[in-house]
Amino acid sequence: MTHSLLTTSDKTPLSAGLYIVATPIGNLGDITIRAVDILQRCDLIACEDTRVTGKLLKALDISKPMQRYDDHSGEGARQKLLDAARESAVALVSDAGTPIISDPGFRLVSEAREAGVDVTTLPGPCAAIAGLTLSALPNDRFMFGGFLPTKEKARRELLEELGGVDATLIFYESSPRLVKSLAAIDALWPAREIAVAREITKLHEECRKGSASELAAHYLTQPPKGEIVLMVGPPEEQTFEGDKDALLAEALKTLKPSQAASQVAKATGLDRKELYGRALELKK
Ligand code: SAM
Repeated sequence: MTHSLLTTSDKTPLSAGLYIVATPIGNLGDITIRAVDILQRCDLIACEDTRVTGKLLKALDISKPMQRYDDHSGEGARQKLLDAARESAVALVSDAGTPIISDPGFRLVSEAREAGVDVTTLPGPCAAIAGLTLSALPNDRFMFGGFLPTKEKARRELLEELGGVDATLIFYESSPRLVKSLAAIDALWPAREIAVAREITKLHEECRKGSASELAAHYLTQPPKGEIVLMVGPPEEQTFEGDKDALLAEALKTLKPSQAASQVAKATGLDRKELYGRALELKK
């Protein structure tokens, strides 16, 4: 670019290809200079919802043709965009944040690469990363888990699978499901530090930390509104030095192995999945 960094007056045509453009997750001021530049100079914008992207373009005083696209749009729609990207500049945006990250675009980018179409990315807002930075949870290692499953069994199984991952876990969550997810986390990891980041970059941005049960109690009385990133701090080092078998055996007198494991996990901070395995052995 030959123009000043803070202006986007370059009118030279963009080279053909697919441009992945991140857009704000709430605060319009978070649009990057480069994103504005590419949206101004591209030939076509592929977007999840033309009304949502239309509002963004209007605020930026940009007028461009748009084509609705998501990964279920079908081969025909994808081929049309790929053909366009061979000859001209196609920008890919989602409703908010970074396309592809729990948003459409994966198949389009994957097929563009296979077809030898130039792909360029314009990084910018992403709720997962914004939430992590707000939370002050350990960030030297983190894992993004997308949306938690809505069905109870699938959610528990996924959480159990991730139980041993020594990293902060990041999930996208919806406000009506938050309390149930916190309860599911509490049943497995009562001692882990949790953060709920809500409405990031918007007027009512907040980040609340505590144990899963503390946060569940809070949001039960004050139902959360808006968009949410739910984060689970890494597992604590297990410091319990008592006789876990004795605790399990006692619990198994009145409880099923799964319940006994939950009870002992809560009391000791030990891993529930491991305790469950041991409870099944003791039961034999
Ligand atoms: N691709 C987007 C990104 O890069 O952030 C995420 C798209 S995903 C369909 C939408 C989810 O992201 C929401 O349900 C919420 O969990 C999270 N999210 C998006 N904006 C948010 C915000 N301002 N505050 C908190 N969470 C947000």
